[in-house]
Amino acid sequence: MLCQGVRMLDVIVVGGGLSGTIAAVVLARAGHRVALVDRHRIYPPDFRAEHMDEPQADALRRLGLLDAITAGVPCVRQVAVGRRGRLLGTWPTINYGMRYDSIVNAARALLPPGVQLLIGRVANVQTGTQEQRVLLADGRVVTGRLLIVATGLGFALCSKLGVTREMLHKGHSLTFGFDLVPATGGHFLYPFTVYQGDRVAERIDYLAAFEIGATMRANLFTFRDYREPWTEALEQEPERVLNQSLPGLAKVLGPFRVAGPVHVRATDLYTSDGFRQPGFVLIGDAFQTACPAAGKGMTRALTDVEQLCTVHVPRWLATPGMGVEKISAFYDDAAKQASDAQAMHTAHYRRAVTTETGLRWTLHRQRLLATAVARGLAQRSPAWLHRQAA
Ligand SMILES: Cc1cc2nc3c(=O)[nH]c(=O)nc-3n(C[C@H](O)[C@H](O)[C@H](O)COP(=O)(O)OP(=O)(O)OC[C@H]3O[C@@H](n4cnc5c(N)ncnc54)[C@H](O)[C@@H]3O)c2cc1C
Repeated sequence: MLCQGVRMLDVIVVGGGLSGTIAAVVLARAGHRVALVDRHRIYPPDFRAEHMDEPQADALRRLGLLDAITAGVPCVRQVAVGRRGRLLGTWPTINYGMRYDSIVNAARALLPPGVQLLIGRVANVQTGTQEQRVLLADGRVVTGRLLIVATGLGFALCSKLGVTREMLHKGHSLTFGFDLVPATGGHFLYPFTVYQGDRVAERIDYLAAFEIGATMRANLFTFRDYREPWTEALEQEPERVLNQSLPGLAKVLGPFRVAGPVHVRATDLYTSDGFRQPGFVLIGDAFQTACPAAGKGMTRALTDVEQLCTVHVPRWLATPGMGVEKISAFYDDAAKQASDAQAMHTAHYRRAVTTETGLRWTLHRQRLLATAVARGLAQRSPAWLHRQAA
């Protein structure tokens, strides 16, 4: 069955996670004829990004989507930073606690009525300078002038397109997610706390605890291996292992219990090769992954969308054809390249500053701590002083 009869679409987006959904919304709002294809009508619960920071909020604001996506979600403007059982200070920040599926589904709700939302798995694609054909596993076919591949970590479609993945670091980091409740009832002192690991042997970068509705959610960012006994111990006995590995955490956060399951995800760092081809572009995780500890995955995805959909696609559609010289302009875009490079640099930096034992990194960590202590002394939290006095 041919879904789109006589009229070819302008753009077909395959993959309706954050990058694909926002791309479809932005292009359709600009008046382009768009189809979005994804396996799920409603993005399912999945352990991914669970809070949005300032650069991500800024990108959504520039795209005119922030207010609608974060409607009803409080913006937290201070983060309490702790280490070695002490509060270093409270710094200004912007943070929205939202599970990934909530962010994506809020974006899906903004798809203009003209967008064809096709639910199903894309089994194959045929690409070229004039026309892109997308074949769904159930036999449906859609054709368009440009194909945007936003399939995230799934590699099957990229492989069919002749794109290869360059593995930069397998098992780069390991991220945990779980809910926290105050062990003695009441509330946690701060709506958003970051507690930094300080023992290199633990390979813990930091724990971020932030409110999602009435729940205090924690993300623990580590550079450990999935197969270590420590990982299983954390899943089985989270409170014991957390108190052992981050002995001062309860002093800053308050006594806590872990409620419900402990989710764990390993992240590989990779980038793509062989992507300069006519007819299609890769965006988001389909192009390059980011380390969750660096918090740049959504920033990268949104930079890709903003540059592609507001700068390049309108130019490409203005003239016939979708040759490789048009497509290359996106991969050569300075803002995209800077965002990719920064995400990769931060991924390696976070691992090094957390795990490296040499003199250079030891001195670097001491300098970072001294700077944070000085900043904290200059700007002591009234809440903390009150707590100390109590
Ligand atoms: C544990 C964890 C924590 C993270 N924490 C953070 C954080 O704190 N901050 C941050 O910025 N980033 C974080 N990230 C990274 C961030 O979540 C990702 O970079 C971002 O979600 C990538 O979005 P995407 O749209 O590229 O891919 P996805 O959201 O994975 O979307 C891909 C979509 O493609 C669809 N799809 C795939 N193949 C097909 C097919 N053949 N046919 C049809 N549909 C298909 C899938 O169903 C899916 O909907 C984290 C990641 C993980 C794993």
